[in-house]
Amino acid sequence: MTHIRDFELDSLPRAGKQSAWLDFAARTGGGHWRLPLLTVIGAEAGPTLLVLAGVHGDEYEGIAAIPQVFRETEPQKLRGRLIMVPVCNAPAYEAAQRSSPIDGLNLARVFPGDIDGTVTRQIAGWLCQRLLPHADFLIDLHTGGLAYEIPLLIGYIHDDGALGQASLAAAAAFGAPVLWGHPMPMPSGRSVSAATALGIPSLYTEAPGGSGCDPDVVACFRAGVINVMTHLGMISGDLNQRQVTHHLVGDGNLDTVIHTPVAGFFQREVSLLQSVKAGQRLGAILDANGNEQARIEADQDGLTIMLRDLPRVAAGDGIAHITQLYRRGA
Ligand SMILES: [Zn+2]
Repeated sequence: MTHIRDFELDSLPRAGKQSAWLDFAARTGGGHWRLPLLTVIGAEAGPTLLVLAGVHGDEYEGIAAIPQVFRETEPQKLRGRLIMVPVCNAPAYEAAQRSSPIDGLNLARVFPGDIDGTVTRQIAGWLCQRLLPHADFLIDLHTGGLAYEIPLLIGYIHDDGALGQASLAAAAAFGAPVLWGHPMPMPSGRSVSAATALGIPSLYTEAPGGSGCDPDVVACFRAGVINVMTHLGMISGDLNQRQVTHHLVGDGNLDTVIHTPVAGFFQREVSLLQSVKAGQRLGAILDANGNEQARIEADQDGLTIMLRDLPRVAAGDGIAHITQLYRRGA
């Protein structure tokens, strides 16, 4: 096993594919924490595409899609480099939870990280220092995880500049049913904000989540990564896209959503992508006897883009998020 600090992307041979483990920190019980790394180096020069999944440890479809893309990508037919980390937050994945059980940190809030910091900061630091600077484009595969339901969507940077236009073009090529543009500046701490700071265009996915791994979402992610490779000129072939039903725009910061003021059981009364008015009732927080403890209402007019799926909530948990329709269709 290679130590993460000794890994050099530029030393990988042309026209080859490699499945590797990189150790990044000693475990208190012995052995090392390690990151899985799948690389396909094309026979010809071309762009470098970096694909991440498992930034949150309870989001499974991206973790499942990446090895499928790896198996299908032939070095002889590839122009450029495909670099994929199927499970970024290895300790969180091992514990089947969103954030790290070791330092309690959410990997999607600590980019650009610190290679001398706690485990989660080390992972972000390594991704930012050793992989991201080589990338011409970044894809970060997320879902709603255990707690949240989000439509199958592509998030992109909604901006007239070159970076925003490259992000939108790749998001459209990916071929998911919902496009969700986020005006600059991107919320800090994310892989996409770290990429933006380096001038690298990016997109991310979301999907309904839950405790399982939905084969339909895996198929969309697999086709989407291949579509983006085609779009970037890394491979030849036809695009395999789903029709865009909604093009949305708004703040993609799921830290600033409608929260519950009390703990209890969230009873939802609306569905995803439902049109709602400011003040409209979205559901309620009940106690265990079924008595309503708090009313949850829309904070603005728009469409529901995120809804709490796990019924049990603690005070302060995010419950819902409303965003704006940019236009129907692409
Ligand atoms: Zn996530």
